[in-house]
Amino acid sequence: MPKYRIEAHCHLIGASPISENLGDKIRTLADKVAFRTRYPDLYAERIIQPPIDISDALLADMDANGVTHAIIQQDYGLGDNDMVAAAVARHKDRFFGLLLPHKYTARRMPTRDEMPKLRQLASEEIKRGIEDLGLIGVGEFFARAFTTEVNPDNILEDFRPIFDTLAQYKAPILIQTAWTQFKHNLIYGNPIWVDEIAGEYPQVPIVLTKMGRGFESLFDSAVLVAMRNENVYFDIVDTRADHIRRTIDIIGSDRIIYGSDWCCMTRWVREPAGCHQRHLDLLTQAGATPEERENIEWRTANSVFRLNLK
Ligand SMILES: [Zn+2]
Repeated sequence: MPKYRIEAHCHLIGASPISENLGDKIRTLADKVAFRTRYPDLYAERIIQPPIDISDALLADMDANGVTHAIIQQDYGLGDNDMVAAAVARHKDRFFGLLLPHKYTARRMPTRDEMPKLRQLASEEIKRGIEDLGLIGVGEFFARAFTTEVNPDNILEDFRPIFDTLAQYKAPILIQTAWTQFKHNLIYGNPIWVDEIAGEYPQVPIVLTKMGRGFESLFDSAVLVAMRNENVYFDIVDTRADHIRRTIDIIGSDRIIYGSDWCCMTRWVREPAGCHQRHLDLLTQAGATPEERENIEWRTANSVFRLNLK
């Protein structure tokens, strides 16, 4: 057992009363992915209900799986960055928090004309989140909230205000790869565009979350970007054991972070195992050595997110 075990990717804030009892509807990850279309009324109501605090459920799952700390962020719903900070304040010894500079925009994507203003607001929210709320970086970033471009040079220009602000604080950001359950252009799920940004902002740690989510072509893109940029890291959410092994061998376990995507929906998944255990099992299947597990389970996150765990 490593000295610490840090869950670096979980969505705590945004849970609602409807998500409290989904055990009969979500047994597998596939059930969770299909939930929005299988139960559209429940889903629609869940995201407009007032958020509730499910810290106790997360802590219980962490304790059952030897997870000592969690880096929490918002989920889809009506939560906000102040609520993330409040949850961290209530559990200072266990939680750290990431901010989101946007709302998940599943219903209506912003238009191109709206974006300059949204980028400016995002920069201000990053500043406020770090300086006033004590949050330590940006959570799962939804590229389509701030760009409609597909050329990496143009995407970089669109994201400049956001990354200029992150660079001031040397604060990390999680960028999605592959698919999400939300509506958006899948094209941003291929992380090849991140290369331009990572090269331009070497002081900003970028976590390519899910490392392509098990898809070969997206994984190859992620590895390519990581090989070219020392400031690019991966988390292991929903990836495959062989991809973890290849990543350890190519870029090293000191660039890989444990996380499970625990949220008010995935917390119900129990086949083949619960969220935390399923991702620990992946490390075992990848043949990670004790030293590699020390890095993946806490040391890399400790360094990328500057947690100062000794
Ligand atoms: Zn996530």
